[in-house]
Formats: sequence, structure tokens, C-alpha cells
Amino acid sequence: MNLEGGCACRAIRYRLTASPLIVNACHCRDCQRLTGGPFAINIWIEAKFVEPGRIAPKSFRLSAGSGKPLDIFFCDTCGTALWSRYHIVPGDCLFVRAGTLDTPEAVKPDVHIFTRSKLPWLTLPEGVPAFETMYKLDEIWPAESRERLRRNRAEQA
Ligand SMILES: [Zn+2]
Ligand SMILES: [Zn+2]
Repeated sequence: MNLEGGCACRAIRYRLTASPLIVNACHCRDCQRLTGGPFAINIWIEAKFVEPGRIAPKSFRLSAGSGKPLDIFFCDTCGTALWSRYHIVPGDCLFVRAGTLDTPEAVKPDVHIFTRSKLPWLTLPEGVPAFETMYKLDEIWPAESRERLRRNRAEQA
């Protein structure tokens, strides 16, 4: 997989050089506020597979629901949020916003999370796992992704 994306003003460009570990649709209130939409589509991927272009995004820090900080990376010119980093997440991973891809139809959510704050008019597709809050990775992730994350954590150690 070699997906490209960027911000609305095109100052910031990036390329994903591996397939996602998993694609989470997150319906938490923070994601609703940050996207202005009903949920965020987060591509969970090792940071080394997010190849930045010439200009690096700026970041700001929020305190996530977990109590551990969350950094949001955005374009300094147009304000588009491109990805985030959750400090509670093991390894060195980013959550890339699928809506910033040039071809956002290239990925679709594998799982819906924090559906306790899902907007009531939105009906989730049948057959896609959905959780009130977060899930345990072993419940959802394919073996290949679990192995990639294990290797990523080992590289960080
Ligand atoms: Zn921009
Ligand atoms: Zn969220």
C-alpha cells in the first residue's frame, strides 16, 4: 500500500508506506470536536511508515480520556489535523486521519469504538465490530498486525 495525503492548503503532504495495522472509527467526544463530524477515521500505523513531505506539521497537546496526553499534529497554515499520537499506546505509532488521504475510499473502518457517544441518527454497518469504549487488541486485530506491533515495541525498548 502506498497512500498519499495532505492538508487542505496542500502545504503538508505525506505518504503511508505500509498498510494500516487497523482502522478505528472513533466516536468519542474529542474526535467529534476535532473533526467537526460524527467520528474520526483513525489509521493506526507505525510512525516510521508515515513519510512526511518537506514541511512538518505543528502539534498541540490535549489530555486524553485515559489521563495520558494526546498530541494532535496539524498544518500551521490551514489548521487541518493530519494525525495524532496517543501516549498511552504502546510502541511508536500514529493515528492518521483517513479523511486527509487523497483517496479516503481506500480504507474503511475495521472497528467502531466509543460508540457510547455515537450520534443517535447514525446507523453503523452490520457485521463491523463496535464497542462502547475501547477493545482489547487480541479481540480484533489480525495476527499479522499484532506481530507488527510487537516488533515495533521491541524496537522502542
Ligand atoms: Zn495546510
Ligand atoms: Zn476519539
